[in-house]
Amino acid sequence: MAKIIDGKQISMDVKMQVKAEVEALKKQGVSVCLAVVIVGNDPASRVYVNNKKKACELVCIESREYALPEETTEEELLALVRKLNEDSTVNGILVQLPVPKQIDDHKIIAAIDPRKDVDAFTEGCVGKIMIGEYDFLPCTPAGCMDLIHSTGVPVSGKQAVVIGRSNIVGKPMAMLLLHESATVTICHSRTQNLKEICRGADILVAAVGKAKMVTADMVKPGAVVIDVGMNRDENGKLCGDVDFDAVQEVAGYLTPVPGGVGPMTIATLMRNTVTAAKVQNGLENSK
Ligand code: NDP
Repeated sequence: MAKIIDGKQISMDVKMQVKAEVEALKKQGVSVCLAVVIVGNDPASRVYVNNKKKACELVCIESREYALPEETTEEELLALVRKLNEDSTVNGILVQLPVPKQIDDHKIIAAIDPRKDVDAFTEGCVGKIMIGEYDFLPCTPAGCMDLIHSTGVPVSGKQAVVIGRSNIVGKPMAMLLLHESATVTICHSRTQNLKEICRGADILVAAVGKAKMVTADMVKPGAVVIDVGMNRDENGKLCGDVDFDAVQEVAGYLTPVPGGVGPMTIATLMRNTVTAAKVQNGLENSK
């Protein structure tokens, strides 16, 4: 029976560390501020933004919300991003995606000052992650690495399989596992023999967006299984990409949904915002 990895507890530990750092910075006269931009009325985005604001409150980071109407133009949003880039009291900028269809999200991300890119989505940040010299790691993959580390299972030399190759989860996840010397395979919708490949994984990360697609026969006994997916099952209940009940009989460690990767994503965002403030105040160097 798998040990369940408690993302809620681990994320709370990270947030408490961040809070202590924020308080120490305040004593040195440095305040920490995250600007959160939301455009339009997407209900899921509203929930995510509210959760980020709550986390900021908990760790004593100032959060400034910029809520723009659905009909905002690309130029208006770019103007706001440029204004926040120039504002020395803002350390981190987060534009909640997706943005309405009249706006090109690539252009918006590209406009964010990489020193304030706490999501680590800009080309500059992605390039730095590739060569292992970064200020910020992308929030979800970094959170997954923390969860893997919490098991005590060493990553070096292990077979790791990542299902999904998106720019925000799958690809950077594979890169972080590679940095820690795992032998990494990336799977996607065209992968043949997915089941066999997954069954060889000591560490299996599912980032697909398909409810319960990772079944027990795809999992190596004792494997560490990290479930990034956030889906609704046939009863409308939140569930991951992993068939939790069946896989927990086989895996060694398993993250639940909810309560696994999700809270870690937000905790990493808080950590990145503090790192941004430190770097901008000359208190920390890039890795
Ligand atoms: P994307 O839709 O961008 O990527 C999904 C990936 O899954 C693609 O690479 C796709 O392959 C691959 N895929 C689709 N079907 C299959 C299949 N049958 N077999 C193998 N691979 C397949 O999703 P994201 O990466 O943005 O997100 C993935 C999931 O993680 C979603 O459920 C999302 O909600 C969740 N998520 C959770 C977060 C959290 O904090 N917990 C944060 C971010 C995302 P191809 O490239 O060939 O199309």
